[in-house]
Order: sequence, then structure tokens, then C-alpha cells
Amino acid sequence: MIIRRRTFLGSGLAFASLASTALLPTRAVSEMSLGDARLRTVSDGNLILPESFVIGDLPEDEAVPIVKAAGYAPDNLEAPCNLALWEDGDARVLFDAGSGSGFMPSAGEIVGNLEALGLAPDDITHVIFTHGHPDHLWGALDDFDEPLFLNAQHYMGAEEHAYWSDPATLDTIGAARQSFAAGAARRLEVLGDGLTLAGAGDEILPGLSMVSLPGHTPGHMGARIVSGGESVLIVGDAIGNAHLALARPGWPSPADQDPDQGIATRISLLEDLAASGETMVGFHLPDGGIGRIEAAAAGYSFRAL
Ligand SMILES: [Zn+2]
Repeated sequence: MIIRRRTFLGSGLAFASLASTALLPTRAVSEMSLGDARLRTVSDGNLILPESFVIGDLPEDEAVPIVKAAGYAPDNLEAPCNLALWEDGDARVLFDAGSGSGFMPSAGEIVGNLEALGLAPDDITHVIFTHGHPDHLWGALDDFDEPLFLNAQHYMGAEEHAYWSDPATLDTIGAARQSFAAGAARRLEVLGDGLTLAGAGDEILPGLSMVSLPGHTPGHMGARIVSGGESVLIVGDAIGNAHLALARPGWPSPADQDPDQGIATRISLLEDLAASGETMVGFHLPDGGIGRIEAAAAGYSFRAL
């Protein structure tokens, strides 16, 4: 086996966080079974977010204590990246592809962490993108700018694909995200015919269908898996964190490209999830990101598996 730097770093991190289970080193951070099928999350590492992406123009005196109370540093916030991996029969479906090596040094760990589970990128049969942001899309290509998941069919919402493929997006997205637009367009071009465009309600596999959750990006989508008498909703970044998005879901999130639409989507999603008790997976939620939403005294809380 060729030891790559990325694999080596991934191993070190995983051992550090799995001290109590060091005899069984597995990089899946959360896991549940649905009948004979299995849903796990696999870490791609963390993002380190600047204050402008977390607090932005929100009232600092109220926002900062909420972020701190949830255990995060507002000016240097570590956001975990949980890639959901759905395994049903011969299908191995990865939700989002992670950051790859070109976004942040603290992210792009998916290859090493899959390898630790005995899986290679070639074993993935489907990659479903929730949206076109770097931490979800850029990992779809390897360091040679070729598709990493060679045997996978890739899926993205048609509206999301149109937005990031439109050359005008570079001019309309704003200076802070211009690199996102250029990076997404290039990667979508390489994926080309390997990418299938999806709409709300489209069934990718039996029991796995796409759900429209717009606002974080124009065509952001989630997916619902119904199997073994259970149901799980992959929400992507529609619930983007475990602090302000839960405590003040009606506040605009600086991370959302259409803050008003993001609020509407988030509020209805949180209401539905709290009422139904349906299991959900949040890409940037803590402790592996699989869990349930519960109503709290103010807003909502996330209870991990
Ligand atoms: Zn995003």
C-alpha cells in the first residue's frame, strides 16, 4: 500500500478521537441500520469558518453567547463535515464528495477515512450532491482534476447545476464567493455526462428520493431514505449548524445565499422534524450529524444518535 500524506493524517486524527475504541479503528463517526441496509457518516474533516460566515451582520451581543454556549469559538469556528454513506445491497451511495485537497487544510479527509472502513473511491456507486459549495463538490475530483469516484453515477439538482454552470454566476455571487463559482463550474464541466440532473421527488434508487430544500443555495436539495420501516432525511446545509440555526432559526444565516428563502426552508424543516421525530443527517452538525430535532425552550435542539 502506498501511504499518502492525507491517509496518514487521517489516521492520526481518527485515533485521537477514538481513544476508547482504539482496538476497533473505524472512521465512521455515526451509524444506524434500516432493516438490512446501513447508514453511516464518514468524516471529511472540519472547516474553519471566519466570523463573517457565522455571525456576519447579526446582533453580536446576542449571537456570540449562543455560539459560545453551543461550544464553538465564534471567530474561528470549527464545523465538522459529515458525509452520509448509504449501503443497501450492491449500492454504496455517498452524499456529497467533501472538499478535496484544494479548499482547506483541515478538510478533504474522505479518501483516508473511507479506506479505514475498507472502502476505496471505486466502491462508491452513486454520489449525490446536495449543492455546489466547495466542501460538498470539490472532492469529486482528484489531485489530477479527474473524477475521483470512477464507478459512481453523480447526481445534482437541475436548478443547482444550472446556477453553478451559468457564467453570469461569477458576476452575481459577490466577491466573497467568487472562487466558489469558478471552482464549481470547472468541476461540473469535468463531471460532464457523468452527472445526472435530478428534480424534487425523483427516485434515485428504490426508497431514496430527492427533496427540494432551497435557500442555502438556489437549488439546494436533500434526500429521503425510506427502508426497513424507517425514514431518514438527509438535510445537507438546510440546517447549517447546531447553534444559531437551531436557537434562532428565523435569523438570516450569513452562510445562506438567499437568507429569506433559507429561513423559510429551515423553519418548516425544523417544525416538521420536531413533530415527526424523523431521523435526520446534518452535514455540519456535531457528533456525526445523525440524530433528531427536538423543540426547546427557545428554538430547537439536536440530539445525536
Ligand atoms: Zn454549503
